[in-house]
Amino acid sequence: MDFQLGAAQQALQARARTLADGVFRERAARWDADEEYPWDNVKDLVAAGFMGLAIPREHGGSGGSLLDVLLVVEEIARVCGVTARIVVEGNVGAVGALVAYGTEAQKRRYLPWVLEGDKPAIAITEPEAGSAATDLVTRADEAPEGWALHGEKRWITGAGVSRLHLVYCRMSETPGAEGIGGILVERDTPGFRVGERDRTMGLRGIPEGRLHFDACRVSREQVLVTPPNGFKKLMSAYNSQRLGAATVALGLAQGAYELALAYAMERRQFGRVIADFQGIRWKLADMAIELDAARLLIHRAAVNAGSRFPDALEAAKAKTFAAEMAQEVTGQALQIRSMARRAMDARSRSSAWFATRGCSPSAAAPSR
Ligand SMILES: Cc1cc2nc3c(=O)[nH]c(=O)nc-3n(C[C@H](O)[C@H](O)[C@H](O)COP(=O)(O)OP(=O)(O)OC[C@H]3O[C@@H](n4cnc5c(N)ncnc54)[C@H](O)[C@@H]3O)c2cc1C
Repeated sequence: MDFQLGAAQQALQARARTLADGVFRERAARWDADEEYPWDNVKDLVAAGFMGLAIPREHGGSGGSLLDVLLVVEEIARVCGVTARIVVEGNVGAVGALVAYGTEAQKRRYLPWVLEGDKPAIAITEPEAGSAATDLVTRADEAPEGWALHGEKRWITGAGVSRLHLVYCRMSETPGAEGIGGILVERDTPGFRVGERDRTMGLRGIPEGRLHFDACRVSREQVLVTPPNGFKKLMSAYNSQRLGAATVALGLAQGAYELALAYAMERRQFGRVIADFQGIRWKLADMAIELDAARLLIHRAAVNAGSRFPDALEAAKAKTFAAEMAQEVTGQALQIRSMARRAMDARSRSSAWFATRGCSPSAAAPSR
């Protein structure tokens, strides 16, 4: 496997970094604080060609590879996780499934929506079907003009903002995976309703919420995949989404590392920048190693996929490692700031101690 990015990929990465640092960085806190969907950023993503980057050229996209998409996602996630998630869902997940399995009519109707800025939602999870996705009970009954959907979905990213939804549902009496298919549902369809928002502690600029289907009528032309192989096909496409989620985690951690490194190089304590202290250097070195390891797992899975979907095992390894790495690295990045604070607190406590004894702390600065 070649670990070098080509000139075109480096240029794409640089373009994404410029947009992220120049435009998205200063807006990022606003989306989270106000729980506001970043429509301004979506306009910029559309203008940059980052929505539908992987859509084939004959359908108006750039025909980019999965790795191209992930390079953009990482650069954007460094400064704004919410916007990075929109890039993920504007290229892989439902979009990947539509490109791979959709009819020509479905592609002609829905891919332009993505190119205009719609981030389609994937609706799998239900109150009683989380990790056990094949326990889902939302069902589609055959109706004279097509299908009627009944059920409830939870934790759907983009609920209320997405125009298009890929809904996993039971389309036959066969239990388990072999009874599941996927139907494309438009937001304005009668019988479809967006319910309560599911609250999150972070990434609050993108809604997670509930979807309700009350005899929601869709035509036969809305069916994307059918049983008995529909679920298998959808989960195969979902492996690209797994790499997208892994890359958002990677980018968030990379951004935290960059901020911690810059702070450590500039913050002075005990007469030197704190990056001179070995305890801080060890942390930064470990963070850099973990970031590289996650990036390599992600890129391996993306490159090995070629023009197909990634291998499930490689994608799952990358996602698991990147998610756990991001918790560790962002935690350590916070520590570098708070350690500096603790050192300051310790110094002011020791100043007070020395002052009561009538001597100067600088003359007796503790060596750590
Ligand atoms: C921010 C966010 C966005 C999401 N976006 C979407 C979306 O767009 N579309 C969508 O369909 N869903 C979405 N989800 C839902 C997500 O896919 C589910 O949360 C996930 O599948 C886990 O289901 P659960 O939360 O019901 O946890 P549960 O399945 O109830 O799991 C609870 C705990 O039990 C553990 N566990 C479960 N089964 C086993 C087992 N067999 N062995 C050992 N441990 C086990 C789990 O690892 C976990 O620690 C989102 C969730 C979040 C938090």
